[in-house]
Amino acid sequence: MSIAIHDSTREDGAVVENGRQVGRTLLCPHCGGHFHSIPGSGKKRGWCRACNKVLCGKASCLKYCIPAEGRFEYAEARNVQNQKVIKKLEGRYPNIKDLAF
Ligand SMILES: [Zn+2]
Ligand SMILES: [Zn+2]
Repeated sequence: MSIAIHDSTREDGAVVENGRQVGRTLLCPHCGGHFHSIPGSGKKRGWCRACNKVLCGKASCLKYCIPAEGRFEYAEARNVQNQKVIKKLEGRYPNIKDLAF
């Protein structure tokens, strides 16, 4: 049995179709999600000038520059009602409350 190890720290991966590389897998700096970038697919995504990276294209990712780490930290803090961390992140990213968690 083989075990596939997913390396989540790798930002770029090849998207292979019928043995041919047709694009790349990229990591969205805002939600931390992987998405495929296929040249010529005509999909409009977005570019964050602050992060200097391509975005996945989700509305909330296009609207606000809130790095994935901040989102995860915020979601975690809300889970345990850590007001100190919640306040800190809301101070740093005023729009973080508008994101759906
Ligand atoms: Zn995203
Ligand atoms: Zn950004």
